[in-house]
Amino acid sequence: MEDILAELFRHLVFISEESAGVRAAFEIVLAAARTYAAPSTLEQLEQMTVMTIFAGNRKRPWGQKHRAAFTLIEIMIVVGIIGLLMAVAIPNITKARKSAQRTACIANLKAIEGAKGYWALEMKKGDADVPTDADIFGPDKAIAQKPACPSNGTYDIKAVSEKPTCTVPDHAL
Ligand SMILES: [Zn+2]
Repeated sequence: MEDILAELFRHLVFISEESAGVRAAFEIVLAAARTYAAPSTLEQLEQMTVMTIFAGNRKRPWGQKHRAAFTLIEIMIVVGIIGLLMAVAIPNITKARKSAQRTACIANLKAIEGAKGYWALEMKKGDADVPTDADIFGPDKAIAQKPACPSNGTYDIKAVSEKPTCTVPDHAL
């Protein structure tokens, strides 16, 4: 995977010195990579780019002086680079979204746990008592509106001495 990427980068840098259109596409791809790729991947890409630019100054693979239009090879290489970067970036985007949802859900569970404690104290309830939704959620209750899991999990309030749970795996206090 990294070898293929390095090879494609080498070609893209050569081409982009001779074609303004490819240069522009290259810059868009790099900007996308800076936004989405993991820091370690980015470092690799930047190193490859610097290395290949130096290599390109010594020797050019095709030797043409000037070309204005895209060739099929150029387009295929650009599409290949975009595909590879997407493959690198998309799992990171998904991971970041899941992690944010989990954090929000855990904050909800903490709020529910606090509300249970408040309810038990105010109503003089014991460890085994289980509050209903109406006991802890409402305009005059500890939480004004019942929170919802961002991943569509369902909350189980449970007894006072137990931690509330969410049906989504990993969403746990
Ligand atoms: Zn959840």
